[in-house]
Amino acid sequence: MTTTYQSLQRAEALARFDLLDVEEYDVSLDLATDESTFRSVTRIRFRSAGGPTWVDLKPVAVHEIRFNGEPVDAELLDRGRLPLETVAGDNELLVDATMPFRNDGEGLHRSVDPADGRHYVYGMSFMDAAPTIFACFDQPDLKAPYTFHVRAPEDWVVFGNGRATSTDAGTWELERTQPLSTYFVTIVAGPYHVLRDEHDGIELSLSARASLAADLDADADELFTITKQCFDEYHRLFGIRYPFGGYHQAFVPEFNAGAMENPGCVTFRDPLIFSSRVTRGMRIQRATTVAHEMAHQWFGNIVTPKWWDDLWLNESFAEYMGVRVTADVTEYADAWTDNAYARRLWGLTADQGPSTHPVAGNGAEDAVSALQDFDGISYAKGSTILKQLAAAMGDEVFLAGVVDHLTRHRFGNATMHDLFESWERAGAEGLDTFAANWLRTAGADTLVLDRDAAVVRRTPPADHPADRSHTFRAAVAVDGTWEDRPTTLAAAETPFEVPEGAAVLLDPYTESWSVSHPDPVTVAALKTLLPAMEDDLLRSGAWNAVREALHDAAVDPADVLDLVEASLPVEDPEDSGRRTLTWVLSWVVPLAGGDALSRVHAAALAKLAGTEPGSEQQLAALRVAISSSSDAAQLRGWLDTTPPGIDLDLDLRWRVLVRLATLGAVDRDELQAAYDAEPTGRSRIEHTRAIASLPDAEAKAWAWDRFTGKVDVPNYELQAAGAGLWRGGQEELTAPYVERYFADLPAAVSGRSGWLQADVVAFFFPHGSTSPETLELAQAAAADETLPRAVRRRIADEADLLARRIAVRAAYPRP
Ligand SMILES: [Zn+2]
Repeated sequence: MTTTYQSLQRAEALARFDLLDVEEYDVSLDLATDESTFRSVTRIRFRSAGGPTWVDLKPVAVHEIRFNGEPVDAELLDRGRLPLETVAGDNELLVDATMPFRNDGEGLHRSVDPADGRHYVYGMSFMDAAPTIFACFDQPDLKAPYTFHVRAPEDWVVFGNGRATSTDAGTWELERTQPLSTYFVTIVAGPYHVLRDEHDGIELSLSARASLAADLDADADELFTITKQCFDEYHRLFGIRYPFGGYHQAFVPEFNAGAMENPGCVTFRDPLIFSSRVTRGMRIQRATTVAHEMAHQWFGNIVTPKWWDDLWLNESFAEYMGVRVTADVTEYADAWTDNAYARRLWGLTADQGPSTHPVAGNGAEDAVSALQDFDGISYAKGSTILKQLAAAMGDEVFLAGVVDHLTRHRFGNATMHDLFESWERAGAEGLDTFAANWLRTAGADTLVLDRDAAVVRRTPPADHPADRSHTFRAAVAVDGTWEDRPTTLAAAETPFEVPEGAAVLLDPYTESWSVSHPDPVTVAALKTLLPAMEDDLLRSGAWNAVREALHDAAVDPADVLDLVEASLPVEDPEDSGRRTLTWVLSWVVPLAGGDALSRVHAAALAKLAGTEPGSEQQLAALRVAISSSSDAAQLRGWLDTTPPGIDLDLDLRWRVLVRLATLGAVDRDELQAAYDAEPTGRSRIEHTRAIASLPDAEAKAWAWDRFTGKVDVPNYELQAAGAGLWRGGQEELTAPYVERYFADLPAAVSGRSGWLQADVVAFFFPHGSTSPETLELAQAAAADETLPRAVRRRIADEADLLARRIAVRAAYPRP
C-alpha cells in the first residue's frame, strides 16, 4: 500500500496564495548515500500575512524540522502535510528529511540500465510529486527562485533548471533560477553521456544513458538543428528572449509522458533516441515534441496557469505552436499531416466519450483529478480551436495578444480570462461568444451531407447544445479530380450541392472541429480515389473520416478493409500508433473478421516486393508483414535473411520474436538467449512483451503478477506485459482473466499512484473481449465509488471503446 496523500483543493490553494509570498528555496540533495533513498535538506524563506497553513512533504523519514528557529514535531505530519503557524512578515522553514527514490516515473526516479548495470536518476515534479523530492508549498502560483546543491557519485553528471557546475568531485552547485512553479523543478543525475553546443548565446546540451551514447551521437546533429531553428522562430514570433539560461534536453529512462517542459532542463522519454531504424513519422513525432516543449518555455513557463483547470491552455498552445513551428522552419514541413493522423481521432473519441468535458473551465477541483484532463480534448481539440481562433482574428492579432499576455504576467501566473483580455487589447472581437460555444461547451457537432436535399446539416450533441459556426475547405471529387470548396456552416442547414456520385469530405484539412462520416457514395468512391490521392494532408482527412465512422459503427468494416488493401501500396503505414497500422490490427482486422489478417498480410507482401530497397516504405511494409504473419517459417526466414536494403536491427528482431511468441512458435530459452545477446533496456521491454504473448497458462499468469504488483516492474515493462496478455486468437486462455481483471483491480490500483495508477487500468483492460458481459462489468467498475476517481474515469473511457466495438459487431455481423 502507498500512503494516501491529501490532494490539493482549489479553495485551499487560493487561501494559501493569499497568505504567502515565497521568496526562495535552497535545496541540498545527497544522492550518493544509498540506492533506495536520498537526503533532502530544504530551506524556504517566505513572507506571510500571518496565520495557519501547511507545507507539503512526502518523506520516508524526517530528521529535523525547524520553523522560525524553533523545532517542530514531525509527528504532526499528516498525509503529506505539515501544519505551520506562520507569523506576519518573514518566516523561515528548515526541513531535513530522507526521501524515496521512486520507480514509477515521478518524484526522483531511479533506474538501473540492464545494458551495463549503471544507475540513473531524474526528477519529475509534475503535478504533485515535488514534495517527494523537497519540502514545498506545492501549487503552481506560489513561484520562487531555487538554488540547488547536489552531492552525487563521482562519475555522475548533474543537470537542473539552473546551470550546474562541479565544484569538487561529486559536488555540484546550481545557479539560482528565475521564479519557478514547484511542478517545473527537476534534477537529472547519473553517468549520462552528454553533448554540448551553443546557439545565439544560449548553451545547448543533450544527454542520454551511456548505453545509448552512439545513438545519441548519431541523432545529435538533427536534434541540435531543430532546437536552433525553433529558438530562432520563437524569438521571431514572440520578440521575447528565452530567459532561463542554458537549454538542456535530457533523454531519460522510463519516462511516463512524451516529455516535460521543465525550464532549462527538459526531460524526454528515451525511446526518442533511436537505436533502430525508424520511419519518418517517428522523426516528426520527435521534432514536434522538441518544438512543443520549447513553446512551453514561453507559454507555461514564463507565464503559468494559476490553477490546474487552465492547464489545457498550456497544452493546446504548445501543441498548436509546436506543430506550426515544426512545419514552418524544420525539414518536417508535413508536420500537420502527421498531427492529423496522430491526434484527430484521439480528440474526437475523447470528446464523444462519457468523460467529455469543455476544453476550458473543466472544473478540476483538485490536483489529482486534473491529471486525467491531459487527454485528447486538452491537446487535440484545444489546439484545433486555437488554430481556428488565430485564423478568425488574424495571426498578427493572435500573436500580439500572446506577447501582451507574456509581458504583463512575466514570471507570474494568469488565467484564460487574462489571455482573452490581452487578445481584446490587441484588437480581437467577439471572443465571449466564441469561447462560450467552442471552449466552454463540451462535445462536437455532427455534420451530415444530404445529397437529395442538397444541404449539409449541422447538429450539436443533444446534451451539449451550442451554436457553432464552422469554416473550412470541403473536398469534392468530380470525375476523379479533387477540388477544394470553401465552406461556412453558420446554420442548422446550409445549401451544399454536389454532382451525382461525387466523393465528399467535409473538413478534411482539420480546420474546424466536428464529426463528419463519409457517406456510402464517398466510401465506395474512395476505394479507387484513395490510392490515387496525391495530397497527403487530404489523405489524412479521408482516413480520419473513415476511422471516425468505424468507431461510430457508421461504416462496414469490410469496406474499411477494402480501403486498407487498396491504399497500402501507396501509403506509409507508420506503426507508432500515429498512422494506420496499429489501428488496422486492433480495429479493422478483428471487426472485419474472416480472412482480414491474411488479406492485410498479402497486401504488405505485395508492397514489400514492389518498393525500392532501402526506402522507408519498404521498412514499413516489412513491419506490417511481420505483424500480420501467421507463418512461423516465414518469420524465421526473416530472422535469417532480411530483404535487401533492410538490416535486422534490434527493433525488427524483437518484432519477429514477439510475433513468433504470439503464435507459440518460440520457446522461453530462445527468448532468453535473444535477450542475453543484447540486454538493453528496449530488449527487456520486448522480452517482457514476448513472454506475456506466449499462448500458455504460465505466460498469462506471469503477466498477471505484474498487473497485481506481486512482481514490481517499471512502467514500460508493465505496459508490454498488458499488451502481450490479450492477444487475438488466445481467447480460451485469456477468458478467465476478464472477470479476474475486475476482481483484482481495486488491489492493483491501491498499490500505485499518479500516472501509473490510471495507466495500469488501460494497460491490462480486457481489450480482447467484446462480450456484453465484459461491458457490464466495466460499467459497474466505472460506477464503483470505492475506486479512485482517476481509475473510474479510465475504465469509463475503456468501456466506451468496448461499447463501440460491440456496436460495430451488432451493426455489421460477421458469420
Ligand atoms: Zn506539453
